[in-house]
Amino acid sequence: MTWTPPRTCARPASTKRCAHHASVAAALLAGAAILAGAAGAAADPLPVTEVAPGVYVHQGAHEGPTRENLGGYANIGFVVGRDAVAVIDSGGSAAQGRSLREAIRRVTSLPIAYVIITHGHPDHMLGTAAFEAERPKVLGHARLPAAVSARGPFFLDFLKGVLGEGFAGTKLVAPSETVAESLTLDLGERPLRLTAHPTAHTDNDLTVLDEATGTLWAGDLVFMERLPIVDGSLKGWLKVLETLRRVEAVRVVPGHGPPSAPWPAALDAQQRYLESLLSETRAIIAEGGKIEDAVEQVGRTASQDWLLFEDNHPRNIVTVFTELEWE
Ligand SMILES: [Zn+2]
Repeated sequence: MTWTPPRTCARPASTKRCAHHASVAAALLAGAAILAGAAGAAADPLPVTEVAPGVYVHQGAHEGPTRENLGGYANIGFVVGRDAVAVIDSGGSAAQGRSLREAIRRVTSLPIAYVIITHGHPDHMLGTAAFEAERPKVLGHARLPAAVSARGPFFLDFLKGVLGEGFAGTKLVAPSETVAESLTLDLGERPLRLTAHPTAHTDNDLTVLDEATGTLWAGDLVFMERLPIVDGSLKGWLKVLETLRRVEAVRVVPGHGPPSAPWPAALDAQQRYLESLLSETRAIIAEGGKIEDAVEQVGRTASQDWLLFEDNHPRNIVTVFTELEWE
């Protein structure tokens, strides 16, 4: 917005307001609205559920990015400690990040000291810019920066086309600190244990365990209801699930699905699907079958169990076939 200084109105203020003053006032109001939007004061708070004391989750809808969902459709949220707040996944755009920040401010005025990114998919990490004024530490897997620079520009381009003006202010924010193995943060009598995993859903999956409540934020290592997407390694993912199963938690916040679910039972359906991909694709490869045969035949029994099955299942098969072809 450009600013020109107001001219002096010839009419005294006590008489009828001059048109010029009225237009200056309108311009000021419009400018204030733009600034408020950019700063987030005007954002509607995202609806959140407190799934355990101090653990708040916004449940993503089972859909792709739209103007209405502000590009966000993952489960995202925050944990409140005695001294500080940690955001876990910032959302699909700066606009969704601002709404998440507004939801936090309805709960607490404590500083937002950390933004933790579970992996570099756009619905989980593109809201980070909304928190810049709070100067949080932004944390992610050691391989997150490489993943973001490889695909981030494509995500920005694509989503700008979908969201239009609603995407304003969204940008890629590099983590200020990365995690190669594990790291424990303290929000004040509230330790959060961050664990970096080997390649599974992606090559940069990070989980967060809130030890106080036994709540595991799994990111997209755990999908429920909506079909899991293999973007890393199927065999790697199955191996990581074995490790995850041993995590002493009572509930999980999955990357997609209900805001929380009992642990580790929440893993079962996903594990069955991933195991069927492994065994059925291997069988087709062993018979000399082609990728098209696999797309046609593999995993079909699971089609009724998952939402968005047709949108993502064929792509999973292509990824999995390529992974298993030369083993
Ligand atoms: Zn993901």
